[in-house]
Order: sequence, then C-alpha cells, then structure tokens
Amino acid sequence: MPDFQLVSAAVLVPGTCATCGRSGDGPMIDTLAEFPPPGGRIYLCPLCVDEANRLRGGLDPMQAQELRERLAAAAERETQLQAELEGKLAEIFQPEALANLIT
Ligand SMILES: [Zn+2]
Repeated sequence: MPDFQLVSAAVLVPGTCATCGRSGDGPMIDTLAEFPPPGGRIYLCPLCVDEANRLRGGLDPMQAQELRERLAAAAERETQLQAELEGKLAEIFQPEALANLIT
C-alpha cells in the first residue's frame, strides 16, 4: 500500500503536481514515488486528489466538514438523551414508586 505524506510544499524536482502541473508552493501529497529516469518526485495537488476521491464516491472537503459537525451535534444530543433516560429510569425504579404501582 502506498505510504503517501502530506507536505507543506513540493520541494523536490519538478516541484509540481504530476497530473495537472500546478505549482507545488502549497500543501501537496508526496507519493514518495519517483518518475522513471530522468526522474523527479511524484507529487499530487489537493485538487487532483479531491477529484480522484470524488470519482471514487468520496466526499468533498466541505461535505466532510458538514458531516463532522452534524456527527458532533448528534453525539452531544445522544449524551443528553442518555442522561434524561437514566434520570427517568431512576425515578421509575425507586422503591417507593414501585410500591405505589403495586398498591
Ligand atoms: Zn493537480
């Protein structure tokens, strides 16, 4: 399995994205692979990686962020509901409450 790395810039020659040729001044994916001779490092820019991800059915970065936020909100709500449920169960199963149900 490839062992890609996120780097802050494409510092090795040719210093560009291998697929679109975009400058590697910003964050790039370093594939740690080399072009055949004369060589050079194979980098991928975030846009090309996002496009490949989209073709594989992946989420774009904005969709992924929205889902992370919704998941965090749902997890928080789950914690609240669990606490409410435990409180209600504690009320129902108090000995006095059970005795009142029987009599
Ligand atoms: Zn690219």
